[in-house]
Order: sequence, then C-alpha cells, then structure tokens
Amino acid sequence: MCQVLAVVKSTLCINFTVTSMRQYSPVTNEIKNVISERLGADSVISSPEALSEYSGDASTLSFTPELVVVAKSVSDIQVLMELANRYHFPVTPRGGGSGLAGACLPSNGGVVLSTVGLNRITLIDSKNFIMKVEPGVISQQVRDAAAAKGLFYPPDPAGMDLSTIGGNAATDAGGPACVKYGTTRDYILGLEAVLPSGQLIRTGVQTRKGVVGYDLSNLIVGSEGTLGVITSLTLKLLPKPAATTGIMCVFNDMVAAMNCVATIMGNGHLPSAIEFLDHKCLSLIGELLPFSLPGEKPSILIIEIDGPKNQIKEEMEAICSLVTDLGAIELIRAESEKERSEIWAVRRQVSLRIHDYAGLYIPEDIVVPLTAIAELVDALPYYEKKYGIEVFAFGHAGDGNIHLNITTQDTENVELAHEGTRALLELTLQLQGTISGEHGIGIAKAEYLPMELTEESITLQKGIKKLFDPNMVLNPGKIFKNF
Ligand SMILES: Cc1cc2nc3c(=O)[nH]c(=O)nc-3n(C[C@H](O)[C@H](O)[C@H](O)COP(=O)(O)OP(=O)(O)OC[C@H]3O[C@@H](n4cnc5c(N)ncnc54)[C@H](O)[C@@H]3O)c2cc1C
Repeated sequence: MCQVLAVVKSTLCINFTVTSMRQYSPVTNEIKNVISERLGADSVISSPEALSEYSGDASTLSFTPELVVVAKSVSDIQVLMELANRYHFPVTPRGGGSGLAGACLPSNGGVVLSTVGLNRITLIDSKNFIMKVEPGVISQQVRDAAAAKGLFYPPDPAGMDLSTIGGNAATDAGGPACVKYGTTRDYILGLEAVLPSGQLIRTGVQTRKGVVGYDLSNLIVGSEGTLGVITSLTLKLLPKPAATTGIMCVFNDMVAAMNCVATIMGNGHLPSAIEFLDHKCLSLIGELLPFSLPGEKPSILIIEIDGPKNQIKEEMEAICSLVTDLGAIELIRAESEKERSEIWAVRRQVSLRIHDYAGLYIPEDIVVPLTAIAELVDALPYYEKKYGIEVFAFGHAGDGNIHLNITTQDTENVELAHEGTRALLELTLQLQGTISGEHGIGIAKAEYLPMELTEESITLQKGIKKLFDPNMVLNPGKIFKNF
C-alpha cells in the first residue's frame, strides 16, 4: 500500500523499476552510523514502518528510501551531501510530499532528505516588501504571515496547506492567481542552496530588481531538486489588494465556458482567477457546494477580481454581462470572504476526490494557448472513447492550464490509458502547448520529455546537471530518463 499524504488514498501504486542506469552504493550500516554520528541519531529515521511514510507523494508512484534524514540545519545538509559524494549514495530532497510527478521519491534508493524541520520565517520587512523563509515553511503559512502584516504573497497552489515553500520553489508552483500574478518564480528575488558538492551558494538579490551575472535563482527554481537543496528564499511581497469579489458562472456546455476565457481577457479584463471545473469533476464534489447547480451536465467558471472596491464592482458587472451573452445559464455571486473561501475549499478537494475515485489515475497538467482551450476540451470525448479512459478536466483556465486527470477503473487497461495519455500530450503540442504547466516532469513524465524538447536542448540541460552534480548524487533519475 502506498503511504502518501494522510489525506490521499492511493488506489493503484505503481512500482517503477529503477529508471537510471547508474549504480549507487547501498546505504550500509557503516554509512548509517557515520550519518548518525555526524548529524545526531535524532535526525535519522530507519525503521521500515517510518520509512514507508516517505515512499509516496500525491502521484501513484512508490519507492521506499533506505534512510530518511530530517535536517535541523543547513550544515546538516552540507554534511549529508559531502557523505553522499564520498560513499556515492543518492539524496532526494523532500518537502511536503504533495508533488504529482514522483519528483521527491528515491527512485534510485538512498537517502530522502526532509526539509520540514527548517520551517522558520526569518524576516518580514514591510517597508521593503520582502520576506525571508526557510524551505520547510508550509505554503499557506507564507501567505497568512504576509496577510497578517497587510501584505500579499500571491502564489496559491491548491495544495498549499500540504506543500512547503521549498517544494513550491523547486517545482515553480502555480495556482489560480497565476493568471494575474504569475507563478512562484515571479516572487523569488534570491535564494540560498546547498549544491550537490555540499557547497552553499547565494543567488539573486534582496532588491526589487538586479541583473548581475547569470540568473542562477531562476535556474534552480523549477529544477525539481536536481541542482541544489534550497535552504532559504527571499520572497517578493506586494501590497494586499483592497478588496476581492467572485462569481461562479454555470454553463450547459464546457466548450462555451472555455470560449469565454479569451473573450473576457480580450475585452481588457485581468481577473485574479479564472478557474474551471467540468461536469465530471462537479459530479464528484457537487454535494460539497453550498448551493445546488442547474442543468444536467453543468460546467463552471470561477472568476475573481481584486483591486479597489468601487472599481471591482463595476468590472464584475461588465464581466457578468459578457458571460451571460456568451451562454452562462446562471451566475452565483460570492462577494464575502466566507462565500469565496467556501468555494475555494471545495475546489481544492477536486484532485483528492479524483484520486480516491479512480482505479488508475494519471494527473497531467498541460497548457495550451487561450484560443485553443475550447478545441482541446471539445476533443476529449473522442480520446475517452478511443482509449477507454475517463478524463476529469479542471484547472486554471485563465492560463490555459488544464489539469487532465486521466483515469480508468479497468486496471487491466493500464497500457491503453498510457497510450491515451501520450496521444493527449501530442494533441497539446500540436496546439502549440506544453506538457506541464506546474507539476513538473519528475519520474512520471520523464518519458515524454523528448516529445517537447529538442535533442540539443536536452543535451545542454544534461550538461548543466553534470556541471552542478558530477557524481549524480542529488535526486538522480528525475526529469531525464535513463540519465
Ligand atoms: C490536492 C493537491 C493540489 C495541488 N494543486 C497544485 C496547484 O494548484 N499548483 C501546483 O503547482 N501544484 C499543485 N499541486 C502539486 C504540489 O502541491 C506542488 O508541486 C508543490 O509545489 C510540491 O511541494 P512539496 O513541498 O509538497 O514538494 P515535494 O512533493 O516534497 O517535492 C517536490 C519537488 O521539490 C523538490 N524539493 C522539495 N523541497 C526542496 C528543497 N528545499 N530544495 C530543493 N528541492 C526541493 C523535491 O525533490 C521534488 O523534486 C497539488 C497537489 C495536491 C496534492
């Protein structure tokens, strides 16, 4: 049984064979003893039951570590990396374990390095609009701490009550607010990281801008823990928007809902969220909504606007009139903080419900240009029929970021479901899209990387990995298959 997050029930755990051709030393008793002596026995977890807690994430993959180290300081991480190079065992950084691509799983065995013990917010500077955090701070706490000072940290990944800010940086997490505010990377001014060699580097700036040398922060952000272990982040904050208002627009037809997105933005509006849920997702979470939905197979858009109070009222009226003209059959307003948070709480349940529902669950998070979203969702029934799959679609419509949750109850049908997945990724690329908007490649999507990147690009990227990590000890087997 995959032990993932307490809240996630894993229905079908897939034990991949080792993806890298590299040979590593097992974590022998001698190595365990050296680690315990150097870091303290209380930093080390080795009992089989406890290790199994670290064998999964929110994907369906499973790899059990040989040892877990819970770092208490930056120097613990430096020592661990020094030992990893000396004895040649792999180290896999792990934050909240909420990733959807298996990127925090020890696919080559070795040590899982948990950063959750490094969880202090070390600075909130209201005058300069910056916050300094250690990597293990839970993402929601970053937002809450900013809000408590009247400031705003925009990234809002739906799993933010589970994920850490270090994991968000390593995956460049996005969320509903991306459409207006961008992803995690847009709020990282600088960082500190332990390189695979054990050396500590500082990158970036403490200021609002800076272009001195190569942008190493942006190389490490989104690199899925393969280039360095992030130990501190300097985050950019914004003034808190004065007010926010929301609306849920119900459509009879998913394609009509999607056609609205480009039109809303084409009319000069920049909502702080445009999320969508198809009727299949609504069938799983509909009963949690604080109201009932009209229509047989309703799909919804959740639209929010933030800014000065009077301005957003007027703008929301204009949007309401647009979506009504474009086929919305009902508009449900969510003006108070309570109403809006009820809707978001339900929205956040979707992935977990799909995970629980499906026999096999393949979470893809493709992105297509705004003008192609309707075409993509319109094509889904064809792929469902051809490959015997059921696709639950929801996501950040304002970014063109569609979470295609490919499922089948027929677990004998795994091969066909994977063929269907590949075909949907091909369609995405034909539509000028990308195969991952925020979940990253990890292990789950490594085989698809050459569909999007050229050989030259992959060779260059592997060269960067080798430069950072000549002994390939930090999170091997991720992003690049068989490397
Ligand atoms: C219900 C649910 C909803 C979700 N919604 C979203 C969403 O809206 N948007 C989105 O982007 N994602 C979403 N996710 C996916 C997940 O929450 C994000 O990928 C998140 O950023 C992972 O953070 P984590 O701390 O759990 O990282 P983990 O899963 O522990 O690790 C993810 C990657 O980060 C690396 N890593 C972790 N910490 C460090 C560190 N300190 N230094 C270097 N590398 C590190 C790991 O090695 C791994 O490669 C969702 C997941 C769930 C379960």
